[in-house]
Amino acid sequence: MESRLLNGVQVYAPATRQELINYALNNHSLLVAVNAEKVLHATDQTRDIINRNLGYPDGIGAVMGLKKKGLDQVIKIPGCELWLDIIRTQMKDKRFYLIGAKDEVIEETVLKLRSEFPGINIVNYRNGYLKQGERELLLADIVQKKPDVVFVAMGSPRQELLMEEMSNCHSALYQGLGGSFDLYTG
Ligand code: UDP
Repeated sequence: MESRLLNGVQVYAPATRQELINYALNNHSLLVAVNAEKVLHATDQTRDIINRNLGYPDGIGAVMGLKKKGLDQVIKIPGCELWLDIIRTQMKDKRFYLIGAKDEVIEETVLKLRSEFPGINIVNYRNGYLKQGERELLLADIVQKKPDVVFVAMGSPRQELLMEEMSNCHSALYQGLGGSFDLYTG
């Protein structure tokens, strides 16, 4: 999959959602949504985080930037839909772990997923408010449960920093979701 630098931010250019999903699964990537805001107002920290990982165009501004740089086939992929596509296409043989949002939101998210995707293998989940000492417990649990896919909905850059820590302990596809659990449970 090709990529280009937009204001120093590396953004990949998938032609289909499946191309991005397969690439991320095969490479144990950390998926980071990139929009015009993140490109135009990139700080050194956000730029470094995106460039260490797999930035994909989550907004039309990023798509237009890539097209201007010659990548005509690229499509916009909203992160709040991508995680559900990953579940839909991969749920038969994958283990999922969910982290983020408040207790009632993550609990409702898991209930809704189990009803919408019967048979989904959610190996564990927790809220996104880690108290002192809980980070270490979470890392140990990730290593023990060995998920294939980890969704983290805690806002940026909090979720990306946690994903990087987890991926140093256990390889998987990680996706940062922002407020997607809140959106999903409406
Ligand atoms: N959140 C969390 N832990 C925190 C702070 C926020 O889990 O320490 C959750 C919050 O409950 C909400 C989401 O992160 O579900 C916030 O998403 P936001 O829309 O701010 O993220 P963005 O999409 O803007 O990155």
